[in-house]
Order: sequence, then structure tokens, then C-alpha cells
Amino acid sequence: MIIQLESDISEEQLSRLEEKLASVQYKTNQVTTQNGRYIIGVGKQEFDIRSIGTMSGIRDIHRVSDAFKLVSRKWKVHETQIDLGDDVCIGNGAFQIMAGPCSIESEAQIESTIQHLLDNNVRIMRGGVYKPRSSPYSFRGLGQEGLKLWYKHARANGIKIITEVMMVDQIEPMMDYVDIFQVGARNSQNFNLLDALGEVDKPVLLKRGISGTLDELLQAAEYIFSNGNERIMLCERGIRSYEKAYRNTFDINAIPILKAKSHLPVVVDPSHGIGVRRYVDAVAMAGVIAGADAVIMEVHQCPEKAFSDGQQTLNYQESATLIDRLRQTRALRESMGV
Ligand code: PEP
Ligand code: MN
Repeated sequence: MIIQLESDISEEQLSRLEEKLASVQYKTNQVTTQNGRYIIGVGKQEFDIRSIGTMSGIRDIHRVSDAFKLVSRKWKVHETQIDLGDDVCIGNGAFQIMAGPCSIESEAQIESTIQHLLDNNVRIMRGGVYKPRSSPYSFRGLGQEGLKLWYKHARANGIKIITEVMMVDQIEPMMDYVDIFQVGARNSQNFNLLDALGEVDKPVLLKRGISGTLDELLQAAEYIFSNGNERIMLCERGIRSYEKAYRNTFDINAIPILKAKSHLPVVVDPSHGIGVRRYVDAVAMAGVIAGADAVIMEVHQCPEKAFSDGQQTLNYQESATLIDRLRQTRALRESMGV
């Protein structure tokens, strides 16, 4: 159950509410976010919610029986829209493409990628400066210095930055140089990191775990929301299966289901989703037709020389073609009124 509180609810009104909920054996959690104040009530007993809805200091009350509450579609009339400023919005009708290398490698690479994005009217650049790698001997990113260099060029060109944060201690130093914090698949259930990102005034893109269920993804998002940050995007990036013909199994089913279960924008990552360059375009277009609010994809001037994930990375020509196709695909979906 979600109870939306009036911002000026008095202590007395609040304790009357707590008493009422205790009388029906409901456990409560208070949540204060950048947007509002809520009480999350968890209990089994059936009772007439109007007896709470009509109390003073209460804005609204909704029954949400799912394990995840605040990220549920059940209580929010509109889909969430993430506003990054400068007319860059994601969700609730706004579509974006985020493109860039798997890893930030050099100043020349940053400049060249930004030029590619500008040429194709893409406003958000992806890239890792802290890279989760299966082997400790692989390239692990340029770190904070790489991020600062990237920021300098991105800001000068009106490009927004999305990059992965791997641990709590990185958040603060990264804060001023990031527009969206990405939580990678391997950290999807790092609850300390999720708690900490809940206290941050920046949007978060939360990837699905390597073998995470949709419910686990939504409950991970609930950690962020319930700690105060409502600006979350859910990302389908493929899950591990028995199939060996590709890197991951991109779960197209996840897109309409996440959109039905949650008010949060859904982003698709076809690069990691299939992991094979030649098929990235098909998966990306399928994701858009299925209802994705954004596509995040890996692009490199010379994928063969990329420090990481070259096998699934598009070159600029392939990327330009796909960007165009994605916009057409999105327009097609809109023209169908779905
Ligand atoms: C990435 O975006 O480069 C990445 C490491 O993604 P994931 O966490 O989905 O594997
Ligand atoms: Mn990658």
C-alpha cells in the first residue's frame, strides 16, 4: 500500500495515520524523495482504504500488492519522464538514443565519438571509465581522469554523459561530471550501491542482472526510489541462457512487461543484448517496436581496435544507419498508436 502524504502533514496527523495502520497490523516505512512524501504500508489484513484516504494530511492512497511498490504502475497516472535538461528527455513519450564506446580510451576517441553523435543529432554519450571485466588483466578503464577529460569535451558540445559507477565511494567524485549514473548488470543487486544512489540527485539507469528476474530488477529499482531518488530507468541488456550462438539472450518479453508493471522508462541495450555486431540493428529495432523509451548502444571509430566489446560494437557508418532506422521505427510505432 502506498499512502501519498501532503507535504505539510503535521506530526499529529502523521501519528494518527501510524496508529490507524498499526491497528490493522500494517508495518510502515516512511519515504521522502525529491518529489514527495510517502508511507509504504505492508500487511495482509483487508480493510476499507477510504478510512485512511479521508484522513487529513493524506493526499491519496493506493493498494499495491506487488513486492515492489513505488516503482509500480499501479499508483501513478503518468509514466515517469527523465528530464536531463537542454530538451533531453526520456520516457512518457520522449525517445532518445545513447551511443558511444564500451570504454573511454583516449581524448582523440572522445572527440571523434562526439563528432559522430553531433552529426547524427544524438544527445547522450555512453562510455565506461570504470569497467567491470571478467578478467583482472583486461583494460579496466581510465577512471576519474578519463571522466574529467570526457566531461570537458561533452559539455563544450552539449552532449550528456552516461557512465557506470561500480562502488559507493566513486559516487561523490563522479557526481559533478555525470548526467546519468549507470548500474551495471553485475551490480544490479548491490544493495549498498542502490541505497547510495537513492540519495543522489541524478538519474540512474539500472541494468537487469545477468540472470536477474524482472521482479528482482523492479525491487532493485525500489531500493533507489525508497531512498529518495525517483529518476530511474530500467534497462534490458539480455540474460544468460544455455544458447551459445550469441553472448546473451535479449529478452524482448521484458519490455512490454516492465512497461506494464512500472511507470519507469525502459531502455534497451542491443549491444550487450546479443553481443554480435551484425545483429545489433535487428535487436535494437525490435526493442523499439516493443516499446523501449531509449536505446543504448556501443559505437567506435574502429571496433576492431576497441579496448573492450569490439565484437558487438558498430562502426560510425553502421551506427548512422541504425540511428536513422531507429527513428523511423519509433515513428512507425507511434503511427500505429501503440
Ligand atoms: C557496459 O555497458 O559496457 C556494460 C558493462 O554493461 P553490462 O553491465 O550490461 O554488462
Ligand atoms: Mn560493453
